[in-house]
Amino acid sequence: MSILEVKKLNKSFGSTHILKDIDLSLEKGDTMAIIGPSGSGKSTLLRCINCLERAEKGTIILNGITIAEEKENGMEYLKDDELRMARLHLGMVFQNFNLFPHLTVLENLTLAPMNVDKKSQTEAEKTARELLAKVGLSDKSDSYPCELSGGQSQRVAIARALAMDPDILCFDEPTSALDPELTGEVLQVIKELAAEHMTMLIVTHEMGFAKEVASQVVFMDDGRITGRGTPEELLVNPKEERIRAFLNKLL
Ligand code: ADP
Ligand code: MG
Repeated sequence: MSILEVKKLNKSFGSTHILKDIDLSLEKGDTMAIIGPSGSGKSTLLRCINCLERAEKGTIILNGITIAEEKENGMEYLKDDELRMARLHLGMVFQNFNLFPHLTVLENLTLAPMNVDKKSQTEAEKTARELLAKVGLSDKSDSYPCELSGGQSQRVAIARALAMDPDILCFDEPTSALDPELTGEVLQVIKELAAEHMTMLIVTHEMGFAKEVASQVVFMDDGRITGRGTPEELLVNPKEERIRAFLNKLL
C-alpha cells in the first residue's frame, strides 16, 4: 500500500494556476527527490501535501486515510480534528529551520511529543536525547537555537521532526540556506535516514545527493510533473531536453 497518494492535485493562488494535475505516490521506504526550476511549484506541492495550503482539486491519501478528495462541489478536506490527527506523523523540515528561538534544543524536541502526542516528560526527553545523539548533537541539548550554526540548526530541525515518529518526512531545500561547508553534515544525516528506509520526500537542488539517496526522482516544470524515473534515468541521461537544460545550468 502507498503511504502517500496524490491524484490530479490542482492549486491556484488567486487567478494563477500553480499546480496542474499533480500525480504522485510514495511507497514505504521510498525516498523521492523533487527537482525543477525555481517557481515551478515544488514548495507549494509540499505545502499542499502537508495541508499548510489547501488545494482546489484532486485527492490526497495519507496512510490509507483520505484527507482530501474531489467532490461534486469542490474539494473536501477532513474536519479540523481528524485532519490534525491524520497529519500528526507527517514531518516537515524547512529551508530556514523554523526552530522555536525561546526554547532550548531539548525543549524544541520535546514540545510536540508532550503537548500533542501526550508523552510524559521523561519519555519525551529520553527519545529527544537519542535523536540528538543520532544527528551528532548530544552536547547541544541545553543550547538555544541562536547559539547553533546553520548546519547544527538544521540537524536539530530534523531531530525535532523525527521526535514525532513520522511516517513521511518532507524536506524543502534543507541545505539551500546553508554555507556550502555546512551542507555536507545535513546531507549526511538525510543519507543515514534513507539507509534506514525512512520514507522521504525531498525538494533539492543538490543533484549529487539526489542521485545518491533517491529511489525515484520527479522533475517539475511550470506546475506540472514533466519527468519521472530513477536517478539514473532522470539525472544521468535524461531524454527530455528541458531536464537536460535544467541540469546543465546547475553545473
Ligand atoms: P518553487 O518552490 O518550485 O520555487 P513555489 O511553490 O514556491 O515554487 O512557487 C510557485 C509559484 O507560486 C510561484 O510563481 C510563486 O510566486 C507562487 N506562489 C507561491 N506561494 C504563493 C502565495 N502564498 N501567494 C501567491 N503566489 C504564491
Ligand atoms: Mg521552493
